[in-house]
Amino acid sequence: MNLLDLFFPKQCSGCSKLGAYLCADCTREILQGELICAYCRRPSNGGLTHPSCRKRFGLDGLWSLGLYQPPLSRVIQKLKYRFIKSASQELTSLMLRYWAEFSPLLLEEIGKDRGEEWLVTVVPLHWKRQNWRGFNQSSLMAKEFADKLGLPFVEVLVREKETAQQARLDRKQRQSNVFNVFAVLEPAKIESKKIILFDDVWTTGATMRECTYQLKKAKAHLVWGVTIAR
Ligand SMILES: [Zn+2]
Ligand SMILES: [Zn+2]
Repeated sequence: MNLLDLFFPKQCSGCSKLGAYLCADCTREILQGELICAYCRRPSNGGLTHPSCRKRFGLDGLWSLGLYQPPLSRVIQKLKYRFIKSASQELTSLMLRYWAEFSPLLLEEIGKDRGEEWLVTVVPLHWKRQNWRGFNQSSLMAKEFADKLGLPFVEVLVREKETAQQARLDRKQRQSNVFNVFAVLEPAKIESKKIILFDDVWTTGATMRECTYQLKKAKAHLVWGVTIAR
């Protein structure tokens, strides 16, 4: 047992029961929803972007653990304000378990390549916001996710401009708010690579699409979006 667990006992985000951040009953409550195409939002097999929706600098697919509603939304909120390593471990393990069980398409691809050419990266926070909170929970989780997959984790994207918080904007404003704010720091690290782009929540997808655009401009071979919720 972790010493900290004595002071902060693990409590389920769904039902407040002690023992885990998401108990077995509440885990079953997670609504997975259908996997969708990152462009037309219609259902798609495994989350693959429909051939007719594909864009040259666009996402190749999107996978999310479940819909953004309790109990999943509560765990994500919790992690945003206080990063709890064991809660994050629970969540990344759950993601991989569900991924392997219900939509193994991409995992099989990675397996076929024996992980070579693959890497995990993350949507960056602006450094000011990161300083204020002291951490980027998505980045810490993406690293864990990469470790569990046995893939390298490389932080290559940076946010060059400070932007308004997406949560306060409507769909149209969100798109223009993130336009041209990301850059790839070391393009050589991602050239010809297959990339898993990690973020906590997919809302309109504007941020992830913009990050993908930059990654592909920097010659990434393929980009899949992976989020905890959408
Ligand atoms: Zn529970
Ligand atoms: Zn589509």
